[in-house]
Amino acid sequence: MKVSIIGGGIIGLSIARALLIKGYKNTILIEKEEAIAKHQSSRNSGVMHSGLYYKPGSLKAKLSRDGILKMKSYCTNHNINWEECGKIVVANEATQKNSLENLFEIGIKNNLENIEILNRKEINKKEPYVNALSGIYVPEESIVNYQKVATSFAEEIKAFGGKIYTKTLIKDYKYNKTRNNFTIFSEDGKSFESDLIISATGLYGDKVATNLGININKMQTIPFRGEYYFIKKEFQYLVKGLIYPVPNPKLPFLGVHFTKLINGEVEAGPNAVLALAREGYDWKTINLKELWESLSYPGLRKFIYKYPDVTAGEVLRSLIKPIFVNSLKKLIPDIRSEMLTKGDSGIRAQLMNFNGGLEQDFCIKKSGNIISILNAPSPAATSSIAIADYLIEFLDL
Ligand SMILES: Cc1cc2nc3c(=O)[nH]c(=O)nc-3n(C[C@H](O)[C@H](O)[C@H](O)COP(=O)(O)OP(=O)(O)OC[C@H]3O[C@@H](n4cnc5c(N)ncnc54)[C@H](O)[C@@H]3O)c2cc1C
Repeated sequence: MKVSIIGGGIIGLSIARALLIKGYKNTILIEKEEAIAKHQSSRNSGVMHSGLYYKPGSLKAKLSRDGILKMKSYCTNHNINWEECGKIVVANEATQKNSLENLFEIGIKNNLENIEILNRKEINKKEPYVNALSGIYVPEESIVNYQKVATSFAEEIKAFGGKIYTKTLIKDYKYNKTRNNFTIFSEDGKSFESDLIISATGLYGDKVATNLGININKMQTIPFRGEYYFIKKEFQYLVKGLIYPVPNPKLPFLGVHFTKLINGEVEAGPNAVLALAREGYDWKTINLKELWESLSYPGLRKFIYKYPDVTAGEVLRSLIKPIFVNSLKKLIPDIRSEMLTKGDSGIRAQLMNFNGGLEQDFCIKKSGNIISILNAPSPAATSSIAIADYLIEFLDL
């Protein structure tokens, strides 16, 4: 069977690797950029999430639990540096007490190991500079560089006899009635015959799925940019591990947080603003067609109408550094603007429905022998190996 995987992010790579290991030797992976993992898979917080936030029974809950264990063991077996630094989710206002307790309950239901509620004193033993009334300690949470993981997947794909085509943007496909298979076509005139097509195209997931004839029920991928600051070296002592706020339960984003990176640096962020192009990593990068598609989408308009304060607040926080710093001060009051330098950004591919609802779970669509990984935001990097295993089971391969 010939399998074509479109998209060379960590999900496409993980699926290609798993299929090759399973014996599907005619597996190819096609990526539009000149190299793999140029988008979400290299522009993220590098956290291995253990499943604290996700609805019990959801795919995110199942595949983050399964995924974190598989990711740790993969990294250990392939000499990829990772560290179990632990995370603290901090409540610093009395009104967050219920949300914190609910989160703890979810953690217990999702079988997280050794999570604990800590008081202020216990938190400050682990993170001396944090301002907290109480918090949840999640010892399993870890850090890694997902670009290194993606590179390792790509090396394995080649070693197992798979092929990776870069600089190849897939535009179209056709069904071959006589051979009962498909041909997919790239912008530069290449064609690939395939019995099974899997799209793992992140920020273009909705468009590629629609081009491949999958009905996505008028849903749309909305690009939410997340911007980071770095903490200057001399102030990195302020953060020992991962420090997160209690998230807003209505939004799938976790709130700006402090993240120790596996290379020793410390980041603060990410926020969440609408990107002006699907791959627009700053305010200057605008794609008018894509921006119009986002702004004219009834779902996004309803979302903005429903959360005007969140939307405006995020834009201001992005444009005005002191507002960003004020959000960080809630976690670490000693943080000051001059301690931070502008960092990088990443863009989340978040599926939204026509009514403005954000799809909270991973979403996989299937139409015959065409599959689309339609929604794979965080914690999909953590879950990438588990998502590939799940897909193989789902497809009965
Ligand atoms: C700011 C931020 C922070 C995050 N933090 C974390 C975290 O700490 N932990 C965690 O687990 N997850 C995190 N995530 C989520 C995680 O990074 C993503 O879930 C994961 O990388 C998704 O991988 P992907 O392969 O689906 O997408 P991508 O990495 O975006 O890959 C999709 C690929 O498809 C290619 N493509 C698109 N269209 C075509 C086409 N037509 N033809 C050929 N190729 C095409 C693109 O070029 C791209 O390389 C974060 C994400 C962001 C943005």
